[in-house]
Amino acid sequence: MSGDRKDSGKPKGIATRLAEGGRRLEWTMPVVNPPVWRGSTHLFANDAEREKALGKIGDGQFFYGRHGSPTQWALSEALTEIEPGAAGTVLYPSGVAAIAGALMAVLRPGDVLLVTDNAYDPSRAMATGLLTDFGVEARFFDPMDTDGFAAAICERTRAVLFENPGSLTMEVCDVPALTAIAREHGVISLIDNTWASPIGFPALERGCDIAIMSLTKHVGGHSDLLLGSASAGAKYYPRLKRTAQALGQVVSPDDAALALRGLRTMKVRLEQSTRSALAIAEWLKARPEVAHVLCPPLPGSPGHEIWARDFTGGCGLFTFILEGRTPQHRSRFVDALEHFGIGYSWGGYESLALPFDPESIRTDSPWPPAGWNEGDRLGIRLSIGLEDTNDLIADCEQAFAIMDTE
Ligand SMILES: *Cc1c(COP(=O)(O)O)cnc(C)c1O
Repeated sequence: MSGDRKDSGKPKGIATRLAEGGRRLEWTMPVVNPPVWRGSTHLFANDAEREKALGKIGDGQFFYGRHGSPTQWALSEALTEIEPGAAGTVLYPSGVAAIAGALMAVLRPGDVLLVTDNAYDPSRAMATGLLTDFGVEARFFDPMDTDGFAAAICERTRAVLFENPGSLTMEVCDVPALTAIAREHGVISLIDNTWASPIGFPALERGCDIAIMSLTKHVGGHSDLLLGSASAGAKYYPRLKRTAQALGQVVSPDDAALALRGLRTMKVRLEQSTRSALAIAEWLKARPEVAHVLCPPLPGSPGHEIWARDFTGGCGLFTFILEGRTPQHRSRFVDALEHFGIGYSWGGYESLALPFDPESIRTDSPWPPAGWNEGDRLGIRLSIGLEDTNDLIADCEQAFAIMDTE
């Protein structure tokens, strides 16, 4: 285990690291989990101790609540342990805050930021809104066009933000090839790795410099918290930390404790929801109501071969496109579902369905893609939870029947 518990230093598998990460004896005392340490003020035994602590501010040093307590330190240490190549992990109050914090750590006025065209909506909005206000220019690129990416890099390009797969349209891009090109040009690679987490995609090992996650999704896993993280190697971790401190980013010890609880079971939850999602995706693919199923572990999905080469796992999130229907059909389908809630977010134990229109969130790669029908525009994203797969399939079947009445 971590710290001063028994630890021979032998290499450990990721399931063991998930179970043991961050459980230092000095943080947990004799109980299994670190307590929720609430506190703004930390008291010093005397003035000399206060002076001594001043020089050591950071994880593991009691100083003041904004610098965390053992609850938050345990979570960030556990996340670092599951991210091969990470020197440390910074916690943020949400996934969006993590993306903003990581981008602010590396970008300066005058820089160009490249953003994958299948990025999640708030990331796009940040790139074209907030960052523009700070003098950064955002340019989008087609994640499946490696040559186009190389051509998009210019003198002023400082960083690139990947999201792999894109959390709505699900293409898997060639991150090792793209990050190699970025590195050649001195461009810093950031990735929103929320979909796979390091269990399915060890992003730093695959060439990224900073790996970001919305912990709200798989790590929390129970739809009861918002948190984010950014992990990096020795080169970028200090910058991330410094920027987060300067921005006053803190997370509550209650949320950190919940995230730690979720983290311990994340691998089994992911494996189960991936299996269930793949079975449902295969069933949907054979349905006449469905034009396309976009699910990286499903053969035929865009970038499936790259997924099979680079990933060690998946999750329960995928998308399908309705065949020849209208938005009213789509509304009838989602309204008829009994076991799927209609809502944002994903990665919880409960299944969700979300209608979305891909063309509204892309600017630099065409939608529908080449070879598709003009009408292939109505997306439904499913987040598959831990219910019985057969119940979820039966639910979709009855909802398709209701969709086509009228
Ligand atoms: C949800 C999500 C985020 C943002 O996370 P919050 O914790 O909701 O702020 C970032 N990236 C992706 C891909 C997401 O789906």
